[in-house]
Amino acid sequence: MKLQKTLSFDDVLLVPQKSTITSRNDVNLSVNLNSRSFSLPLISSPMDTVTESEMCKTMAWHGGFGIVHRYNTIEHQSSIVLASSMKGDEDFPTAAAVGVSEDLLPRSVALVDAGAFLLCIDVAHGHHSNVESAIKKLRDKFGSDVSIMAGNVATAEAFSDLEEWGADVIRVGVGGGSICSTRLQTGHGIPTLQSVIDCAKVAKHALIVADGGIKNAGDVVKSLAAGADFAMLGSLLAGTDESPGEVIQALDGTMTKVYRGMASVEAQMNWRGKTSSLEGISATVPYKGPVQETLSLLRQNIKSGLSYSGARSIKEFRSKAKMVLQTPAGINESYTHILRR
Ligand code: IMP
Repeated sequence: MKLQKTLSFDDVLLVPQKSTITSRNDVNLSVNLNSRSFSLPLISSPMDTVTESEMCKTMAWHGGFGIVHRYNTIEHQSSIVLASSMKGDEDFPTAAAVGVSEDLLPRSVALVDAGAFLLCIDVAHGHHSNVESAIKKLRDKFGSDVSIMAGNVATAEAFSDLEEWGADVIRVGVGGGSICSTRLQTGHGIPTLQSVIDCAKVAKHALIVADGGIKNAGDVVKSLAAGADFAMLGSLLAGTDESPGEVIQALDGTMTKVYRGMASVEAQMNWRGKTSSLEGISATVPYKGPVQETLSLLRQNIKSGLSYSGARSIKEFRSKAKMVLQTPAGINESYTHILRR
């Protein structure tokens, strides 16, 4: 058997290149999704400890968008979409996740009526006939009035299939999430960066969302260089004021919030009172305060990232970016390392 070598975020670095950019304000991070333009290429993940109305509003305010998770009743999910998609006279682009079960159409109709501009067919293994029929059902029902995201996929073959089935946007990454145990439990997956590289080679018109394992702005920048249009964030946004859930204060004053995989025991029991395949864990993450601080920092760092390659836009960045491999010694040097000396 011939084995392909795969690359993860920490395996690569981007080569600094000549720049004439004098201010980060000259770097434009905008990306178009059908008729909409987003000024920040970030999406909050459809997870019950990441995205409900407050996260959607703040993501949209900062130029990205959020996807309301599907682990609730149709009525509850629609009410979250309704509360977030409108603020006064302003229209906030809000998206919502759906599954592939029998409530697909009634749920989708309710979510679109509530204002969702995009429906995300949210399953762990997106290269599946269930996803093919779900995309077709949504297309038949909504035509091009609603954008369709689907996933997750790990390979170029899967990406091309979902694109042909009619997805506008495809989540790329299987098994890379910080709370994910899919690779341990099933032996399957591909490092997210490698999947993005492979899918970008075959993408015709569908947009790529790098999803799973993004732990800092540098990983977002590497995703964009590899061909992603957006990065989807879970752990980076968890633990903020806008993520659902209470702040937990320990006796020593430490503050945390719960962040859990949607295939964890805790999330499944909470959602439907039973478990099936367990491919995620529940954890606590440090409380981070308002998400706008995280988003502002990410925006600045991503802009800096593009400017290191001398690029003023994501399109220019993608054509200019050069990646090199890191050795273990290089990875050690890349992490702040004085404390390890
Ligand atoms: P993170 O940004 O590395 O924390 O990864 C978030 C991503 O993990 C999500 O956008 C999903 O694609 C994925 N994910 C969420 N819940 C689970 C789970 O329970 N098992 C496996 N993957 C998950």
